[in-house]
Amino acid sequence: MGSMPAKIRRIGVLTSGGDAPGMNAAIRAVTRAAVDKGWEVSGVRQGYAGLIANDVVPLGARNVGGILQRGGTILGSSRSPEFKTPEGRRIALRVLEDNGEDALVVIGGNGSQSGAAELMRMGFPVVGIASTIDNDLYGSDVCLGVDTALNIALEAIDRLKVTASSHHRAFVVEVMGRDCGYLALMAGIAGGSEVIIIPEVETDPEAIAAELTAVYERGKPHAMIVVAEGAKYNADRLGHYFAGHQKRLGFELRITVLGHVQRGGAPGAADRLLGTQMGVAAVEHLARGQHGVLVGLRDGRIGATPLEEVAANKKTLDTALLRLAYILSR
Ligand code: ADP
Repeated sequence: MGSMPAKIRRIGVLTSGGDAPGMNAAIRAVTRAAVDKGWEVSGVRQGYAGLIANDVVPLGARNVGGILQRGGTILGSSRSPEFKTPEGRRIALRVLEDNGEDALVVIGGNGSQSGAAELMRMGFPVVGIASTIDNDLYGSDVCLGVDTALNIALEAIDRLKVTASSHHRAFVVEVMGRDCGYLALMAGIAGGSEVIIIPEVETDPEAIAAELTAVYERGKPHAMIVVAEGAKYNADRLGHYFAGHQKRLGFELRITVLGHVQRGGAPGAADRLLGTQMGVAAVEHLARGQHGVLVGLRDGRIGATPLEEVAANKKTLDTALLRLAYILSR
């Protein structure tokens, strides 16, 4: 965590990596909280790629009106391979300095905050806001966007369960999360699924087959299998594994990959409030001269974690919840 001697006059804000519902609430809060301090705000378009290309627009209080309820990010986002190179980051730093930015707020996930840590190491004041539907970022128990994505996944699971019951089918529903099983685990529990498959726990497809048969024999009219995209046996591989010999499962198997549908939703109340609080907290940290931190939700409160600590640690998942899900699917 660094401290900042000079007074802030202008800050930049960008959204990077995968977009997440609530990013706009955070952009709005950062902008209006900064305006309240008498600072100017530069909105950087398309994440680090836009920073390198100096694609920057001034943001005033009026520019961020009417965005609180919108999904995605009005600033646009991207993945920038160039920013991963030292030369790309040198250009980005030069743009920030030439534009007179005193600090940068980075709204994004794991990769984006690694990028923020690199800027910090180069001596530039940065504050991160933990935002990713994957929830794979150390320093925030729940990241901005997760709640909305979870609700979208749940709605899909609920609907699939209805059709699964009508036809005595088993549905495999694949949810996002990259290498993290959080979304799948929580959607599986909240959606009352029979089987949950996550990357953190090795799963034998034969054990899944045995479980489905047991579910069938217990007289259930359906079976829901929620699987994380990053699991070894994701929807595609499970489908291949059981192709041609589904009969032994008891159920006919159908596969649905939710994919990007989970991203695009309008943020719910939780993510609007979280984005708003995180945005204000980021500005308050800068105003106090604190930077090099990630603003996140910790033990139910908005808190800050040094970016170095974020980069050095991997978020863990409470896999004991899998056992709970198993008990509850009796
Ligand atoms: P997310 O932030 O959602 O996890 P990515 O992992 O795609 O998304 O990261 C977004 C961007 O952050 C990348 O395109 C890249 O520009 C930058 N980035 C990711 N990892 C690093 C890193 N280790 N060093 C510097 N920049 C990085």
